[in-house]
Amino acid sequence: MDYLPIFLNLKGKTCAVVGGGEVAARKISLLLKAYSQVKVIAPQIESVLEKLKEEGKVDHVKDRFVGKYLTGCSLVIAATNDQAVNKSVHDSALKLNIPVNVVDDPSLCTFIMPSIVDRSPLIAAVSTGGASPVLARLVRARMESLIPASYGKLAKLISTFRSKVKDTIKIPRQRRLFWEKVLQGHIAELVFCGREKDARVAIQEELDSLALGNGAKKGEVYLVGGGPGDPDLLTFRALRLLQQADVVVHDRLVSPRIVDMARRDAKRIYVGKERDKHALPQEDINNLLVRLAKEGNKVVRLKGGDPFIFGRGGEELETLVSESIPFQVVPGITAASGCAAYAGIPLTHRDFAQSCVFITGHLKDGTTNLDWDALVQPRQTIVFYMGLAGLDRLCAELMKHGMSETMPAALVQQGTTHFQRVYVGDLKSLPDIVAKENVKAPTLVIVGEVVQLRNKLDWFDPGLASDASWGVDSKMGGGLEKTLPS
Ligand code: SAH
Repeated sequence: MDYLPIFLNLKGKTCAVVGGGEVAARKISLLLKAYSQVKVIAPQIESVLEKLKEEGKVDHVKDRFVGKYLTGCSLVIAATNDQAVNKSVHDSALKLNIPVNVVDDPSLCTFIMPSIVDRSPLIAAVSTGGASPVLARLVRARMESLIPASYGKLAKLISTFRSKVKDTIKIPRQRRLFWEKVLQGHIAELVFCGREKDARVAIQEELDSLALGNGAKKGEVYLVGGGPGDPDLLTFRALRLLQQADVVVHDRLVSPRIVDMARRDAKRIYVGKERDKHALPQEDINNLLVRLAKEGNKVVRLKGGDPFIFGRGGEELETLVSESIPFQVVPGITAASGCAAYAGIPLTHRDFAQSCVFITGHLKDGTTNLDWDALVQPRQTIVFYMGLAGLDRLCAELMKHGMSETMPAALVQQGTTHFQRVYVGDLKSLPDIVAKENVKAPTLVIVGEVVQLRNKLDWFDPGLASDASWGVDSKMGGGLEKTLPS
């Protein structure tokens, strides 16, 4: 190790920054975050620094650097573009035994500044020892995406329980297990979704049950949106929960590549019957979730897209509520957003559409009970979910209710995956185009002027569907569409 990483307490300590430019300003803002007193030494300073000075946040020594200005300082940073000045700052600091950093010149540094992920009080610092600051920044960016934004809040909450936990759980190993459970389980998730009060209560309950010796495992259900297909469109939270789950309950709309992201030894339960493409009756799924949670499992109910958009998520939750099972809902990118983006069709556009309607084309018992007049509105995009089997009728009804037969319309098949296909036409031609192709579910129908923008905005190349790493997506199917009358 060329450098020893340490964290300095600079609260109330005077730190000197030599230089008054943009780089100096960046360093100063960091030092201020650490609550230090900042002294800027420079003949001229940038307007941002002038402002800080006016606000009383920094002192300004309006002069060229001389060593005496470092007296009483705990740390110094040289951020000038004058090598001689930087060298002189280094030499003076050394004489006074003050840690010194000269920006972009490791040979003149007694300490170096890392890239930081700040979730105070949790702080992660990354350094390449000056070898490649860009690499350090890239690693930092990865960490940013891995460390939930609310870890700071979590750390603060935990700190208020530390001594209580120490008093209650005397054996260090058991204490560690307790904290691991809190930090990785539903209590942490409560903090992440802003329910700190509930998290407090839950920690206390956990402690009480330990004290009473009944540490029974409590189950919970996470209703998680898995997005439209491309695993990169998962949210951080969805991925984290998948990797913690004991059981993942999924159906046909979720790409197998996403199910694969679950913890290796998690049990996977498929609740769509592959052969006849009918889903397990909703009631059975609801009861299954209740049973799994009651057995003490952390259950991820993984749904395609967003659980609250044509996902029957609400129904599943109602059963959980009636059985007092704790749950959370994690939104996902719905098919309309995902498919539109990957097909190059903006759902709204100032020139073409001011509103956008998501509607199901799944017509119960073959009846068309949609409010067609409300749908046929100028400057409105209509997105039909589950609209493939009824496509002829959808198009015919729209025309019958006054929409022009030349209204652009598109069908997106298996959007966002390597199986994505987009068929474009208009209300009159789309059914014929689709009839000629071997269209596979799931598909989404987009109707509106915005469809013509695809000519300009198409960017996604699904590549070869035979690519082995994407091949599994061919199992994706929107069985519901097949049940519709055509
Ligand atoms: N909750 C889901 C929708 C479930 S309804 C969501 O928010 O996306 C099922 C319908 O969604 C399918 O019949 C199809 O119309 C649409 N759909 C879901 N994923 C799709 C995809 N990758 N490509 C095209 N359509 C999709």
